[in-house]
Amino acid sequence: MTEHIESGFETGTVVYDPGSDTVGEYQGKAGPYALLRPLGGGREWEARPDLIRPATPAERLSASLRAANSRSLHGGPPVPVRDCAACADLAGLRDAARARRDRSAETDANVLLRRHQRRYHTAFLGLPEYTSAPDVPAGAEYETSCTHCPAASGPRPGRAETEEWQSGHARETGHTRYRRAVADYAVLDRSDS
Ligand SMILES: [Zn+2]
Ligand SMILES: [Zn+2]
Repeated sequence: MTEHIESGFETGTVVYDPGSDTVGEYQGKAGPYALLRPLGGGREWEARPDLIRPATPAERLSASLRAANSRSLHGGPPVPVRDCAACADLAGLRDAARARRDRSAETDANVLLRRHQRRYHTAFLGLPEYTSAPDVPAGAEYETSCTHCPAASGPRPGRAETEEWQSGHARETGHTRYRRAVADYAVLDRSDS
């Protein structure tokens, strides 16, 4: 009388097991038990098939977050973030390299994936967040360069000083078109501390 249970889940379904309070991937039956595997791999465990249910999106997300953290802590290969096209592309490159046993291309793809994740998925990886603020005492820098020749003003404290430089250069050369740029400095603050 367990047929309805046996046909309940497809292999690979992400399920929640209240017995262990853990989310896992359904692997199939093991005698009277359902065999589950941690997301991101690891030792399988046996769960009561009548208790497990499909995981909610929130449960899936926090489980894959935990898997990614434990992988990065243990130096394993990075796990692609669900629904991120860039992660999917890079993981695809890595899988293709692995399939043709190209170790160096596989390593390259992992490096790119890690770099991408450190930049765009800081919360997912549990990395510190930084906020950026203008460095007020440093002020801004104005700079202008001639588009007819390589001459440039170098950094000046204000717009007026760059315009003075332009007039001088125009008088000397007759050059009348300039590129203008303003730069300022930013200071980063860890927003979680
Ligand atoms: Zn991504
Ligand atoms: Zn010039």
